[in-house]
Amino acid sequence: MPDSRFKILTSASTSGPGDAGRTGSWRVERPIIDLSRCTPAKTGKSSCHLCWLYCPDNVVSKTIEPTIDLEYCKGCGICAEECPVKAIEMVSEEEFVKGTEDE
Ligand code: SF4
Ligand code: SF4
Repeated sequence: MPDSRFKILTSASTSGPGDAGRTGSWRVERPIIDLSRCTPAKTGKSSCHLCWLYCPDNVVSKTIEPTIDLEYCKGCGICAEECPVKAIEMVSEEEFVKGTEDE
């Protein structure tokens, strides 16, 4: 007979945006989603969303066009690694700093 203490096989705890503070300030690379490659954005159907599933900080929306909350995205790159169609590119934050300096 199985030990009843071991019936719970999944954790009920989930992290949420901001649980570790303003983690967006840690970022050295920013994930950019190419919606022309993203499966739900292309098909208009709720599917895939592996970026949402794997993001450790729960900062990717589970919407037809997924969005990333850059206030809390720490730039770990897991979403880019897990995207099956390589729709997410990690771009150096320096590129964005340069972009604002040129304006
Ligand atoms: S994992 Fe890639 S294809 Fe899937 S929803 Fe995210 S960006 Fe789109
Ligand atoms: S890089 Fe991707 S997986 Fe990592 S925190 Fe940002 S959105 Fe989440």
